[in-house]
Amino acid sequence: MDKNNKKAYVRTYGCKQNFADSEKINGFLTEFGFIITKTPEEADVIIFNTCAVRENAEQRVFGNVGALKKLKQEKPDLKIILCGCMTQQKHIAERFKSKFPFLDAITGTNVLSSLPEIISQTEKNTTIRINQTDKAYSEFKEEIKPLREGNFSANVPIMNGCNNFCTYCVVPLVRGREVSRTPENIVNEVKELIEEGRKDILLLGQNVNSYGAGTDTDFLSLLKQLDNLDGEFIIDYMTSHPKDCKKELIDFIAESRHVSHHLHLPVQSGSNRILKLMNRGYTREKYIELAEYAKKKIPDISLTTDILAGFPGETYEDFKQTLDLVEKVNFDSAYTFIYSKREGTKAADMPDPVSYEEKSEWFKELLDVQGRISERSYERFIGKTMRVLCTGEGRSNQNLLTGKSRQGIIVDFEGDNKLLGEFVNVKITKALPWALIGEMI
Ligand code: SAH
Ligand code: SF4
Repeated sequence: MDKNNKKAYVRTYGCKQNFADSEKINGFLTEFGFIITKTPEEADVIIFNTCAVRENAEQRVFGNVGALKKLKQEKPDLKIILCGCMTQQKHIAERFKSKFPFLDAITGTNVLSSLPEIISQTEKNTTIRINQTDKAYSEFKEEIKPLREGNFSANVPIMNGCNNFCTYCVVPLVRGREVSRTPENIVNEVKELIEEGRKDILLLGQNVNSYGAGTDTDFLSLLKQLDNLDGEFIIDYMTSHPKDCKKELIDFIAESRHVSHHLHLPVQSGSNRILKLMNRGYTREKYIELAEYAKKKIPDISLTTDILAGFPGETYEDFKQTLDLVEKVNFDSAYTFIYSKREGTKAADMPDPVSYEEKSEWFKELLDVQGRISERSYERFIGKTMRVLCTGEGRSNQNLLTGKSRQGIIVDFEGDNKLLGEFVNVKITKALPWALIGEMI
């Protein structure tokens, strides 16, 4: 389509899935002739793709939207649109509407369906439109090509929504029920990406292990098809759910050619009582067994996790069970969060007697324990040779190149910029808590 000379800026909050959605929004806008800018100041249309998973993410968005008022006063023709998980919630959309009357449109996770209309409406008038009747994200706009960031990596959503209803989590409420893309569409997209020279493919879903549920395909079958493709590349995936991650999947990954040896397996808690209240569908014993199995079958695996501290009703005794599990499993790293109450979830109605201050004390303890483990955990790779995809300039030192190993670990080494986008062998000489340093061989 011809350029319409309009510029658009999209800011994304939250998870990789949201980033993938924004890549589609950018793809759509480009199709409509927009030029995508790097700053809001340059833009004629600003879109904030919001995140609702925790309260602090929401507060950040409120702050950032408030700051746009000045820009709108200076440029009355500027259009400002909110979308995503936060504004999928009616009460939040209403709050935005009354707090910031200068907004032009508010929609939810189904933004790709609403965009053509929103854009044409905002061109004509400046009334706020709240898509309260919009269904949460459910369909894939296969016809829209995402405008991807980066040169060597690509996010590939394989499904939308979530059917799990963990009691603390707002995701199923804002992203709707699980729907999977067809394996044909996914395989064709990945094939094209590899032909384009992308070598680090990240498959995305809230629970990739239930991909294809209710159809005649499943995640294992999808991985097998992708693993059969020609070329040198890594197929990474997230997020895995311990209740649905089967041993036969791990067996396949162990013998696969391309599938990542990074397993992000959120445990959330090490207390069986809390796991039950969270509706996670597994016990600490089952989790530990699965983690041990994965380590045995894939000896160079990198295990990472998510942990939620201070769930309603959690006691210090429960929390100590989480610390104990963290010590037992030895994660390379953990994303740790203090529980944040989300309206509409089951946990929001549970008694929550422990103060935020006390939860913060527990949280510090968790950071200390995991920090101590992460400090030394990469030392097991010293002396080993790793296959590394060269992705950019070194992060630990500007004179180095940086890359990504099959375990998803950052590896820095000395090398020529010409190697960008290539796989090289690197012998590891040093381990940092967040990266490895080595020499190309
Ligand atoms: N589908 C993924 C991730 C969902 S959200 C999964 O099942 O693991 C990412 C992480 O945010 C979760 O793993 C959890 O640790 C955290 N999270 C979700 N809801 C939260 C809440 N209400 N408060 C604090 N952290 C939360
Ligand atoms: Fe939320 Fe649980 Fe679904 Fe993950 S699996 S998105 S934590 S409800």
